[in-house]
Amino acid sequence: MCCLPTPIHRLDWLSGRLQVDLWIKRDDLTGFAFGGNKGRKLEYILADAIASRAEVITSCGASQSNFVRQLGAACARFGIECHAAVMDCPYEGIPGEGTRLLNHSGNILLDHLFGVKLHRYADSTWDDLYARTEEISKSLEKSGKRVYRVPVGGSCPLGAYSFWEAARELRAQTQDRFDYVVMASSSGSTHVGLHAGLKDWANVIGIAADPEPEIVEDFAELSQGLSLLYPSIPTLSAGEFELKGSYVGKGYSILDEVTLATIMLVAEEEGIILDPVYTGKAMTGLMDLVQTGEIGGRILFWHTGGTPTVFAVPKWPGDGS
Ligand SMILES: *Cc1c(COP(=O)(O)O)cnc(C)c1O
Repeated sequence: MCCLPTPIHRLDWLSGRLQVDLWIKRDDLTGFAFGGNKGRKLEYILADAIASRAEVITSCGASQSNFVRQLGAACARFGIECHAAVMDCPYEGIPGEGTRLLNHSGNILLDHLFGVKLHRYADSTWDDLYARTEEISKSLEKSGKRVYRVPVGGSCPLGAYSFWEAARELRAQTQDRFDYVVMASSSGSTHVGLHAGLKDWANVIGIAADPEPEIVEDFAELSQGLSLLYPSIPTLSAGEFELKGSYVGKGYSILDEVTLATIMLVAEEEGIILDPVYTGKAMTGLMDLVQTGEIGGRILFWHTGGTPTVFAVPKWPGDGS
């Protein structure tokens, strides 16, 4: 499904502006169904689902989930039915308040085109969303279907494994190491796989998309799962993950002005589209970490995709329409 390896190239304008040597890994160009980091995970997850003769795949996420969109396309490709439980802005603890993405257009339109069966619920906690997803799986099983369950964001050990492989892909693309690799981090398999695969080679920094510092405990658990699957891959403890929580803004999938300004700057100066939920926040974090002197030198920004959600931003600054 994916077009690999994805290219890496230098960001000349931003390098000059930030006075660093800044490069980008273009996982927005994984190719399949508008690209993004989830395509890598799905290569392995779909292979496993097909091997277990799944008739239906169930998963969940935000309504504008990039994972559900790419999963839906992969299921279409292999003739598997796809069901996803979604809420516009699921939350941990207290709901995030602020401007939201539109609940049509963007990924939701694409889900529709791929034939995903979306089960939409009013906003509630992530745990409620997981419980709904399990209800859907159980009722499909009751009707006699063989169901394959995929956790939110594709963050199962196989998903993390795909990013261990992606780390090898990057290392084969460049003679020189990077001082830092920075990317958006949420359900964890991107962060876990890259950290494991780049541990001895670069400092990996995740910029959180969720206001949940404890999420690193889930990352450690995922890392254990990955090592169980492939014992040669080192297990990482919660304390080893560098996850920066200061750029989330008002909550998961809640829009903020700073992020939109970053997206517009990178679009105008580099011709590259970032997204409002993950990569826009991650680039805001990268620029701030450079400006405060926390990171520097040769830096790689891992673009994880998400670009369809720019069409679900209700209003861009300066847009009179
Ligand atoms: C899902 C996603 C992430 C986060 O990846 P995880 O593996 O879930 O941590 C980052 N960026 C984009 C665009 C995504 O869709």
